[in-house]
Amino acid sequence: VPQKSIRRKHVPHRTCVGCREVLPKRSLIRLVRTEDGIQIDPTGKLSGRGAYLHDLKSCWQRGLRGAVAHALRTELTPADRERLIAVMESLPEAQEAREANSER
Ligand SMILES: [Zn+2]
Repeated sequence: VPQKSIRRKHVPHRTCVGCREVLPKRSLIRLVRTEDGIQIDPTGKLSGRGAYLHDLKSCWQRGLRGAVAHALRTELTPADRERLIAVMESLPEAQEAREANSER
């Protein structure tokens, strides 16, 4: 798949597929569709179609209902779902994290 149209903006922003907020890329967790299924990409360097989520449980819950699969143009396999749920379980609930990372 050609990636010629990717533009490098000064501060890249991405949309959280869970809540649709647009934020600086660095404050979001990247998921990538790979040959081995959907993986978390902490470095942001894996190639492949990506989707972004806040590090908040609530966004993952919403995302796993369909937005992640849609953004990655794939379907979550049971293994993907298990892997993502395991990550989700390690994330804080919405309110605590929002206060901790507020960037306004
Ligand atoms: Zn979100």
